[in-house]
Formats: sequence, structure tokens, C-alpha cells
Amino acid sequence: MSFVLFVVSQEKKVAGELILIIEDNEKNRKLVRDVLQVKGYKTIETETAEEGLKLALQQSPALILMDIQLPGMDGITALKQLRADPKTNGIAAIAITASAMTHNRQTMLAEGFDGYQTKPISVKEFLAEVQRVLNLKDRKG
Ligand code: MN
Repeated sequence: MSFVLFVVSQEKKVAGELILIIEDNEKNRKLVRDVLQVKGYKTIETETAEEGLKLALQQSPALILMDIQLPGMDGITALKQLRADPKTNGIAAIAITASAMTHNRQTMLAEGFDGYQTKPISVKEFLAEVQRVLNLKDRKG
């Protein structure tokens, strides 16, 4: 286990909400998965938005981590589809992007995302954003 994961694992564990990771880059996917699992979250993952939409319908995750640049459908289009379906409309979503210039926080929130992180992720900031967005969702019911 890396030092950063060790540090994270020593902190308070959280309730095991299910989080769907949609990310085509294997290294990023593994980092996000490891950090979330060490923290006590359950995760499912896929490399494409198309498959992600199916998983969102089938498994009703509490939160989706949505990479913006994906091989087929992009993350913004996928979010629009999620929001257009009453069955997935209420799922919280955080945009994860490597292009902070093109996809800044304001434009991503305007597209309907609940949260925002840039790659490479900072573990502490990332976990704080996940917790913040899950709390927002709890307040909304
Ligand atoms: Mn990508």
C-alpha cells in the first residue's frame, strides 16, 4: 500500500455508499478505486459512458465520477442522458477532467455536474469533494 493510501486508511471510515467510476485511463481508475475502497466506499467501474449509463440504471449508485474525455460518448453528453431519465436524474455526479482550461469548474457546474475535480487528482481534495457532494445529495433527500 502506498504511503498516501496508508494515511487515508488511518482516518475515519465512511458509510459504504456505492460509487460508479467512469474513466478510460487505467491508472486513474485504479487510483480512484483504491482511494475510495480504503475509505470504505463500494465501487463499480467502466471505461465507457455507454456502459456507465447501463450500470447507473441497473445499480443506482449514490454518486458517479465522470471522466469528461472518453473514447465514445463524452462525459458531458452522458450526464445529459442521465439527467433526462427520471430513473437516473437524482444521481449525484462529479466531473473529472484533465483539461482544466476547456472544462473549468464553472462550465461543468453549468452543465449540471454537482462537483468538479481536475486530473491528476489530489487525494485529500478528491475525498473532500466526494464527501461534500454526497452530503449535498443527502440534504436534497
Ligand atoms: Mn479520459
